Amino acid sequence: MTIPPLAGGTAGPDALRPLLAVVLDALRAGAVARGGPLPPGGPAPLTRAVRETVTPVVPAEGHGAAEALRTLVEAFAYGAADPADPRCAAHLHTPPLALAVAADLAASALNPSLDSWDQAPAASALEAEVTRALAAEVYPAAPRPDALVTTGGTEANQLALLLARERHGTVQVVCGAHTHHSVRRSAWLLGLPAPVTVPARAGTTDPAALDDALTALHGRPVLVTATAGTTDTGHIDPLPGIAALCERHGAELHIDAAYGGPLLFSPRRRELLRGLDRAHSVTLDLHKLGWQPIAAGILAVPDHTLLAPLSHTADYLNPDDDTEAGLPDLLGRSLRTTRRPDILKIAVTLRALGRNGLADLVDRTCDAAQDLADLVEKTPALELHQRPVLSTVLLRPRGASDDTVAAVRRGLLHDGRAVLGRARADGRLWLKATLLNPHLTPDDLDTLIALVAEGSIPR
Ligand SMILES: *Cc1c(COP(=O)(O)O)cnc(C)c1O
Repeated sequence: MTIPPLAGGTAGPDALRPLLAVVLDALRAGAVARGGPLPPGGPAPLTRAVRETVTPVVPAEGHGAAEALRTLVEAFAYGAADPADPRCAAHLHTPPLALAVAADLAASALNPSLDSWDQAPAASALEAEVTRALAAEVYPAAPRPDALVTTGGTEANQLALLLARERHGTVQVVCGAHTHHSVRRSAWLLGLPAPVTVPARAGTTDPAALDDALTALHGRPVLVTATAGTTDTGHIDPLPGIAALCERHGAELHIDAAYGGPLLFSPRRRELLRGLDRAHSVTLDLHKLGWQPIAAGILAVPDHTLLAPLSHTADYLNPDDDTEAGLPDLLGRSLRTTRRPDILKIAVTLRALGRNGLADLVDRTCDAAQDLADLVEKTPALELHQRPVLSTVLLRPRGASDDTVAAVRRGLLHDGRAVLGRARADGRLWLKATLLNPHLTPDDLDTLIALVAEGSIPR
C-alpha cells in the first residue's frame, strides 16, 4: 500500500499540483452543473444526492485521492449556495477573493499552529505585525494598540465581554435591541446578568433611552455594546454620542463593527465610524466586508495590556523559562489551543490590494446597494424600507402580507433562482439583500429586482 504524499516540504508542491488540478476542475464542473446561486429543489433532493454520493462514508478500500476529490468536491460545489453568484445575497456571507483562498492553501499546507512559537515561528511573527497594524487602523492615536484573531464576530464579542468581566469581577451588559445575538449568548456563557436592552429608534440605539438605563445602573460596572453595522439592516449606532454617554456615566464601551468595520479603509465612508476609537474594544469581521474565506475575525483593543487577563501557562507550550529566554508567549492570544494561521490570507490581502484597493471594494459594494435602492424606488410594485447605510437593502412587494414575503423568499430558494435573506423591521417582514459581491453589475441588480417582482406574482 502506498503512503499518501504530504503537502509540506520540498516535495509537497509537486504532490499538490495534480490534486489541485482535480479540485479546480471539480469546482468548475459543480458550478456549471448548478448554473445559478444554488441548486433547485430545496433540501430533500440535495440531501438524497449527497447521501448517495458519499455512501459508504468509510469504504473498506479507498477510492484514491483523485476519485475522492473529484466526486466529493463536485458534489460540494454543485450543492453550494455560492456567494460569488450575483443572485446569492442573503447573509453576510462573503464571496472570498481568489488571492485570499490561494493564501489559505499555503496556511493549510504548512499547518502552523499558533499556540506555541515552536509550531509557528513566522506565522506568530506575522500575526503580531498584522494584528498591531489592524488595531492601529481602529485606534490611530493609541500608543500600543493590539488585536486578537478570532473565528469571527461571535468569538470577538465573547472575548470583549470576558475581558470586561475580568476587569471588574462582574459586569452588567447594556445593549441595543438590534444587538447581535452573540452578545446575549456571551453574557449567558460567562455567567453575567442578562443584558439590559435599550430600545432602538429608527434602527439604532436611542441615546436618551441609553442615558436612562445608565442612570438606573449608577454605581455598577457596566459594559455598553454598540453596533457599527447591524446584521439585519446595516445601521450604525450614533457612536460619538454613545461614547460620550459612557464616559459621563463611567461605563465601558464595546463596539461590534463586525460588518461595518472595514469602512475604515474608505476615505469616502470612514466618517461613518467616527467614535470607533473611543471604545475599550472593537469587533471586526474580515469574512464579511473583507472578502476572506471563513474564518477571519478580529478583536482590537487600544492597549495590549487590556489583553492581560487572557494570559495562561501550560508547561508544554509556554514554560516560564522559555518565555524568559525570549520565545514569544502565544497562549494568551486566544482561548483556543491549536489555532489556524488565519492571519496569512489577511496579510496577503492587505498587501495585494493596499488601502486603496480595499477602499475600492468597500465603496463598490456600498454603491451597489445605493443603486439597488434606487431601482426599488423606481419599481412601483416594490417598497423600500430605508436608504441603505452599508450594503444591506430591505425591500418587499408593495401591499404584500408578511406570509407572502416569506413565501417569495422560499419560492426563490426552492427554484434555485436567488438566495435572499429576511429581516423584521418596523413590525413588518422584509426581504433582505445583503450585497457583498464587488463584481455586481447594473444588469445583476435589474435581475434581482425582476426576480423579486416575478416571485411575488402568485403562480
Ligand atoms: C456577523 C455578525 C456577528 C457574528 O460574527 P460571526 O463571524 O458570524 O461569528 C456579530 N455581530 C454582527 C454585527 C455581525 O454582523
